Amino acid sequence: MATTNLDPRRLIELEDRFGARNYHPLDVVLTRGEGCWVWDVDGNRYLDCLAAYSAVNQGHNHPRIVRALVEQARRLALTSRAFRNDQLGPFCQEVADLTGFDRVLPMNTGAEAVETAIKAARKWGYEVKGVAPDQAEIIAFSNNFHGRTVTVISFSTEDEYKAGFGPLTPGFKVVPYGDAAAVESAITPNTVAVVMEPVQGEGGIIIPPAGTLRRIRELCDEHHVLLILDEIQSGLGRTGKMFAFEHEGVRPDGMTLGKALSGGLYPVSVFVATDELMGVFRPGQHGSTYGGNPLGAAVAREAIRVLVEEKLVENSAAMGERLGAGLRALSSPAIREIRQIGLWVGLQLVPEAGGARRYCEELQKEGLLCKETHVDTIRVAPPLVVGPDEIDWALERITRVFERLG
Ligand SMILES: *Cc1c(COP(=O)(O)O)cnc(C)c1O
Repeated sequence: MATTNLDPRRLIELEDRFGARNYHPLDVVLTRGEGCWVWDVDGNRYLDCLAAYSAVNQGHNHPRIVRALVEQARRLALTSRAFRNDQLGPFCQEVADLTGFDRVLPMNTGAEAVETAIKAARKWGYEVKGVAPDQAEIIAFSNNFHGRTVTVISFSTEDEYKAGFGPLTPGFKVVPYGDAAAVESAITPNTVAVVMEPVQGEGGIIIPPAGTLRRIRELCDEHHVLLILDEIQSGLGRTGKMFAFEHEGVRPDGMTLGKALSGGLYPVSVFVATDELMGVFRPGQHGSTYGGNPLGAAVAREAIRVLVEEKLVENSAAMGERLGAGLRALSSPAIREIRQIGLWVGLQLVPEAGGARRYCEELQKEGLLCKETHVDTIRVAPPLVVGPDEIDWALERITRVFERLG
């Protein structure tokens, strides 16, 4: 394996010395990726069990998506929305077809898509539902993660995300996740939307009780409230369905997508919605310089085709079953609970286990890159291109680490 001659300690020092200290990464310095594997600067190979928080569901550097990126970059990358480009129309049509929604509003990062959803819901509240000016309320859930802008952190329940960043944006009510009765109590005539992750990713792969989403959909219908789902991490195959809401057979009024929408090659997000909801935006009222650019649109179009044509959603369901079964066979007193849906696993440890971080560090030595979420949960979420041999390989090593650490 060819290696660079860069000293990883030096690279870590540079990052720590000159970078802002807003992350606490594992000390592994990666330089190359292919499929579900990544290599560090010393040439060590690892199975990527995080998949960039599901942004690389299609695997690292998927050759088809790389080709789409390079070809489009050679032709035309950015026009701004002041002019039209030949990728945006087909991109919107293909996302509408994939999601079953009428209209698509492209942005770049996930947080921007969520901001867009919030703006749309509020404006819908005033123009369609008839809520008095500036009185719109949005219901969100405890333990949520929807991004890092000031408005989005305003309805976070994580002190770390909010402390010191006030004044925060008003207009949000937060109820316990998975609690439909609490949603019902929180609804007022001013409620315009419920914003929800169908499965909480950063929250620790939290799967609400069966029927919760269906019940919340009913409540929204009864009270003329929008249901907006944030499928930025749960969508595009991660849960073994194209969208997590399919597990409950409901449809939201609007949805945010990001991360795997571009297969990890370029930030592309969207807010998709019904005609009625998206209709609130008129020229000049919302936008983004890079949103809907031809480079991002071409990359996302190919990333979607790869997901569908390579049957990655089906593979996610099958490999998730295999991984889940293997993990449930672990009989370690350190494990408190295993939560799994599709190729998405949260392995929660007992408090006495001393935190998930040291397990992640030990897994790294075995050639698996995992990242703890919160203090005590190990997330296992490899790219959806992973095969049975790689799952078995991972299970062997996870078993070894649990035998070693108890
Ligand atoms: C990652 C994530 C976001 C934010 O996406 P960014 O691209 O980091 O802004 C929003 N919602 C959910 C559910 C996410 O997992």
